[in-house]
Amino acid sequence: MRARRLEDRIRDLCSRAVAAQDSELDTIFSALQQALREHNDRLRKLAAAKLAAWRPRGGGITILPPVSGASFECAICSKPIPLEDSKVSEYGQPIHEECYVAKLTTGQHLPQQQAN
Ligand SMILES: [Zn+2]
Repeated sequence: MRARRLEDRIRDLCSRAVAAQDSELDTIFSALQQALREHNDRLRKLAAAKLAAWRPRGGGITILPPVSGASFECAICSKPIPLEDSKVSEYGQPIHEECYVAKLTTGQHLPQQQAN
């Protein structure tokens, strides 16, 4: 199996979900969930690496501790997301996982493609 970009895998899974039979949906959705989790982890590591590499010129580092109980607003449905449950979109916006999936899925209104 060829290694693919995770984003492509997620899009592919979404388009498969759209075209899938009911019996296939469970498998596709668990693969999709796994891919989204990996995507999220990857973004988190990326952000952590950037933060770790960042050196302010002034010498004084001010990193605000995470505020517990803080919540973001979902960039898609505008409802609050608890910090622990927040996902990050490809544009770095906080979103619900379900909203992300729904958005990717509804963005797939392409003409029927032949699955190989
Ligand atoms: Zn949402």
